[in-house]
Amino acid sequence: MEVPPFAVPADTLAVLARLWAAGHGGYLVGGGVRDALLGLPVFDWDIATDARPERVLQIFPGSSYENRFGTVLAQGTEITTFRRDHRYADHRRPDAVTFSTDVFEDLARRDLTINAIAWGRRGPDAAARMVDPADGQGDLRARLVRAVGDPARRFDEDALRLLRAVRIAARLDFRIEPVTMAAISTHAGDVEWVSEERIGTEIRRMLAAEFPSRALRLLSETGLLAVVLPELAALPLATLARTTDLLDALAGTEPGREPLALAGLLSELPPATALEVAERLRVGRREAEHVRALVEAAIVPYTTGWTDADLRRYLGPVPPDLLDELLDLRAARARTAGDAGPQAVALEAELRERVAGQLAAKAPLTLADLAVDGRDLRETLGVPEGPIVGRLLARLMADVIEEPGLNSRATLLTRASLALERMVDDAPAQGRARRSPIG
Ligand code: ATP
Ligand code: MG
Repeated sequence: MEVPPFAVPADTLAVLARLWAAGHGGYLVGGGVRDALLGLPVFDWDIATDARPERVLQIFPGSSYENRFGTVLAQGTEITTFRRDHRYADHRRPDAVTFSTDVFEDLARRDLTINAIAWGRRGPDAAARMVDPADGQGDLRARLVRAVGDPARRFDEDALRLLRAVRIAARLDFRIEPVTMAAISTHAGDVEWVSEERIGTEIRRMLAAEFPSRALRLLSETGLLAVVLPELAALPLATLARTTDLLDALAGTEPGREPLALAGLLSELPPATALEVAERLRVGRREAEHVRALVEAAIVPYTTGWTDADLRRYLGPVPPDLLDELLDLRAARARTAGDAGPQAVALEAELRERVAGQLAAKAPLTLADLAVDGRDLRETLGVPEGPIVGRLLARLMADVIEEPGLNSRATLLTRASLALERMVDDAPAQGRARRSPIG
């Protein structure tokens, strides 16, 4: 079988060959071809064909419809019928699509020249070849992101393309060709048409890239930032530049730690705002809360004067599985702190060591580490259900943070019962005080 001038898994080629054998044209296309030509790993291959979706379903038993535009998922590969898009009344999805039998038509509706390169056969009798009417390969060599056709029109049709262009340029470290760049700036406001969910996905993908700072710079230069992250766009330029440096400093740490990258992006905002933005980006409630906790804890200055109890008090509210992220974020902030840098970096190293010491000593930091829980208090001491349980636990926690040696069941139950007696003694006094004005 003919093979393309780039690496493709045998399974994917087999899907293509099956389309050909069934009498159809079929091409590898899209991001897979782009990345393979660049020698990058490819996770998703797309195939385009003249076969209608019903026909594709027939050719591949067990395949399934993926969406209303007739993409079929067959053996892990997305097979999409050639198509032409029509009218984009909402600057987003096309209102309608027409299936086509012409690969050139299909390539013309794609967003970027580097995404509009195909390799395959027009039909069973044709030879396999590269089809690249927009010279995407030229742009790959020149490392340029360029819209297919008239950039202004293409961005006007579909505002998601604005973010895709930035994300792909940032990920590949390509420049955006000037006319395309100008069109992005002109149409930046249209991103309002893109759903928050979709914007969130794009931004998270930008953050997952090797150097997310590139995306932030491009968003800022094009004016897209003011629409997708107005809170950041409103920061003074020097502060935004710090964030950009910070993202680079974090890029050295292992990728895929989403709350960390997001906390880095939002670390110059008040924690409550960071939470709001994270929720808007649809990261999920738990993760948004993690982002807030990281931002909040990262801005607390550490000094050598902290006692061990100070340190434990500081760590208490930080979810335990975020401690590494917190220390990495703090260290990255110190490295990008400018003049204060060297001293700040040394301080952060000291903090990291002291935290490790507390963890090694299994110092109790949160309620989960406490040797008693609410049920203990109710069942052993007969504490009535209600807010008093929480108050007692908080009190014990504070004692244990101060003095970890107190963290044994017996000691804590004794202390709890003493505290409880005092609370009960106080209660009638308060009652009398409240009644006295009437009586
Ligand atoms: P990646 O998968 O790395 O995000 P990709 O380019 O493969 O990049 P997909 O979303 O998988 O992106 O889309 C596959 C192909 O479909 C693209 O390469 C492009 O040719 C086309 N495409 C995707 N979204 C659009 C769009 N909004 N407008 C025009 N063409 C698009
Ligand atoms: Mg893809």
